[in-house]
Amino acid sequence: MSIEKMVLDNSPFLIFLLKVGKNFELYFEYFNQTAMRETGFTKDIIGKRIQDVYEKKKANYMYHQCHEAIFQAKHIVFQDSYINPSDITIYTETKLTPIYDRDTKQCTHILAVVKDVTEERLIRLENKKANERLIEREQHFRIIAEHAHDLITLLDNNEQIMYISPSHKRILGFSQQELIGKHYLQTVYPEDRRLVEEKIKLAIRSNSSFKIQFQKMHKTKKWIFVEVSGTPVYDEQRQFVHMVLVTRDITKQKEYESKLEYLAHHDTLTGLPNRYHFNEALKKAITQYEKQKEGLAILMVDIDNFKDINDQLGHDVGDKVIEQFGKRLAGCLRGDDLGARLGGDEFAIILSGISKQNDAVNIAKRIHQEITSKPFSVEEQEIPVTISIGIALVSADKINELALMKIADMALYEAKNSGKNGMRIKTA
Ligand code: GH3
Ligand code: MG
Repeated sequence: MSIEKMVLDNSPFLIFLLKVGKNFELYFEYFNQTAMRETGFTKDIIGKRIQDVYEKKKANYMYHQCHEAIFQAKHIVFQDSYINPSDITIYTETKLTPIYDRDTKQCTHILAVVKDVTEERLIRLENKKANERLIEREQHFRIIAEHAHDLITLLDNNEQIMYISPSHKRILGFSQQELIGKHYLQTVYPEDRRLVEEKIKLAIRSNSSFKIQFQKMHKTKKWIFVEVSGTPVYDEQRQFVHMVLVTRDITKQKEYESKLEYLAHHDTLTGLPNRYHFNEALKKAITQYEKQKEGLAILMVDIDNFKDINDQLGHDVGDKVIEQFGKRLAGCLRGDDLGARLGGDEFAIILSGISKQNDAVNIAKRIHQEITSKPFSVEEQEIPVTISIGIALVSADKINELALMKIADMALYEAKNSGKNGMRIKTA
């Protein structure tokens, strides 16, 4: 076997030599072992014309490509495919080279070298698909981001802002130019920065999402409450790409929550703390008392014969009296005192940090004086009001709030029983 034949037969390429005959007919003159193995052709095709071997459409196509090479006198490269003996479609790239007779300058042969490009094609197709998927995902992201009511922000791994949705302008007043490239934490309320940074870093490290509430910079309103959900995004090699933050303005929700919180703790008629709030405050005052042993007293204040006001002047007038009563009572309190309406015409006051028994009595006297010295005025009617006050003064090392309230109640009961419009003091 000649060296040339060995080289040709061991080539990874399918090699054909076509003879150019009369009227530029093309005859198979030679093909290598690789071509034989890959196509299943046998030696029978040697001497046959292209159109005798291939089906019509393919033969015409080959014919056309070969004639291009002959008449343009240059290489022709084209993509094609064939089905191999195992019934698998093989994609190919074929290079046709016209060969000329040195003397006559006539094209005598065409050399066809066929390369299997199936794998390259698959990779190319896969890349193309991946690219299309990426573009599609980006388009989806943009459509969502551009139309989102929430704020969408992308951060890089240094928490720098890479992208902001147009909704930032409407919700925070900032344009894209004003924020892109800035450090995200600059837009976060200083006291919230540490928490926000920790959450972002942890999410990136652990590939987890988070949701937090904090205050964020607004162009004109300074700071607004937001709720932010953060999700880190990684590429196929698990490398961090960006952090997606979806931010919602929760100012209204916060206002609503604080309204609910206020209503849960306050009496609607007087605006004073209610019984629930009073009980919470009393627990705290007792803990404080037990720790620091500063004086603690409770005043129970109840309007005398309030039913008569209701009966004689009507419930609405009674309400107005309670309303004004609450204001006068609040006006008598010191900064740290807590006055509450427990219900009906009954009010209670926590006096903490009093140094001696007299302090509690003096405050009670002041309240009594303030309420009884001048009548209440409702719808041009003068309504004189008197009150009874029960004082519970804590002296024991330990006391619970129920026992303390009971003693204050008893003091009030005694004040009522001994003719009303006065006060009684009891020690707990
Ligand atoms: P006492 O001197 O013993 O305290 O007698 P009183 O008539 O003031 O009666 P008491 O304190 O036992 O009851 C208070 C009354 O206040 C009972 C109820 O009819 C009335 N009341 C309770 N809540 C309201 C309210 O929100 N508005 C009005 N107008 N009246 C109320
Ligand atoms: Mg009463």
